[in-house]
Amino acid sequence: MLSNHQATQGDQATADKDVGVIEPATTADLKHEPAPQPDPNVRCRACSHAITSLRQAIEVNRAHEHTFRNPAGYSFHVLCYRRAPGALCTGTPTTLDTWFSGYAWSYALCQECQIHLGWFFQGEDEFAGLIATRLLRP
Ligand SMILES: [Zn+2]
Repeated sequence: MLSNHQATQGDQATADKDVGVIEPATTADLKHEPAPQPDPNVRCRACSHAITSLRQAIEVNRAHEHTFRNPAGYSFHVLCYRRAPGALCTGTPTTLDTWFSGYAWSYALCQECQIHLGWFFQGEDEFAGLIATRLLRP
């Protein structure tokens, strides 16, 4: 009750150009409402479409980043995310040559420009493994 009353006085003082009270009121407002965080999106490097976000980053087998070689001999530096809502899942999941034991993979394409961004893995849970060089990260 008392603090509400004081806050109200502070607001009024701010509006009423009472310089002595403006500073403490402003400081209190800053503490109460921190500045919004910058956009943490992870985007498609080709078209800037939002694919996932830093908050979705996860560790699989105790690492967020993995380097794998596919049967054709190409190496991929892959980052793991819990979800990738901006990517399309395509192809029939298969465990053939899978990089994560127990997980079936299918392709992850950019929803916007259809570029190949990585793979979705499905097992006891699901995650996306996205190719680092095809992403724009904050
Ligand atoms: Zn794209």
